[in-house]
Amino acid sequence: MAKILVIDKEECVGCESCVQICEEAFSFNEEEQKAEVILPDGGTADCIEEAIETCPVECIRWEEE
Ligand code: SF4
Repeated sequence: MAKILVIDKEECVGCESCVQICEEAFSFNEEEQKAEVILPDGGTADCIEEAIETCPVECIRWEEE
């Protein structure tokens, strides 16, 4: 089963850490003041795991599709 990268927007506090660490996979939605995933399958971005570990509220995760 494939895994997809998701951000729980309810929990995201808009710190932008994930975007700074891994702009290939995340972008910042200025209107919502929340981060969003722009590369759901993760591609080959090595920085994703670092972004997941750095998120202060641990709201970035892999989910089974
Ligand atoms: S690191 Fe976490 S809390 Fe910060 S913007 Fe990204 S998803 Fe939101």
